[in-house]
Amino acid sequence: FAAMCLTINKYCQNVLKENFSLIKRLYNESIFDSMTQLFNRKHFDQQLNLLLQIGYRDKRKLGLIFLDVDYFKQFNDAYGHVEGDEVLKKIASCLKKVCRRDSEFAARYGGDEFVLVFYDINGHALQNKCKAIIDAVQKLAIRNPKNSVSEFITVSLGAKIVHSDKMSTCSKVIKVADENLYKAKGDGRNRFFIS
Ligand code: GH3
Ligand code: MG
Repeated sequence: FAAMCLTINKYCQNVLKENFSLIKRLYNESIFDSMTQLFNRKHFDQQLNLLLQIGYRDKRKLGLIFLDVDYFKQFNDAYGHVEGDEVLKKIASCLKKVCRRDSEFAARYGGDEFVLVFYDINGHALQNKCKAIIDAVQKLAIRNPKNSVSEFITVSLGAKIVHSDKMSTCSKVIKVADENLYKAKGDGRNRFFIS
């Protein structure tokens, strides 16, 4: 009887272990982008909403950066989508390095768009983050012959400081950062525009 109990116990333990790793895998798949291993858009939106509430409560500013790769369609046309995917992965690892604290993180927003959030940051520090990103991507030195601003792959950024004097929403702040990104594109690309 004891031997039977032991066997059943071992079997149950194995089932529990399998269930646990399945839950862990499903959870990871639900929050991470499988290609870049950055957070996905859904998880980013949830976390940003949370940080906006905490920032409003604790009177802390938030910094947001919206990023889009310059002339990426042309890169894909020249070198193919597989090479293009490699570029996105390399840019993602540059972005991870810029996020040093637990309260800073990057996500893939979709296609060649990425987004970063920095909790408790001022305008000057956010500008430095933008410069660091532009610099790090340039230093990857990935050739893009169709890029009219540089011989290498470059990125444009729209940045926004969110003040804590009034409650904001994820969609509102993303909209402004996105508008700033298009100003950076319009001003010639390979640069940032901050408000
Ligand atoms: P712009 O400087 O105006 O941003 O020019 P662009 O060519 O980058 O234009 P846009 O951002 O509108 O196009 C994004 C391109 O990114 C379209 C598509 O070819 C490419 N793309 C989107 N998702 C992926 C992906 O997962 N892998 C690869 N390799 N390419 C992607
Ligand atoms: Mg692009």
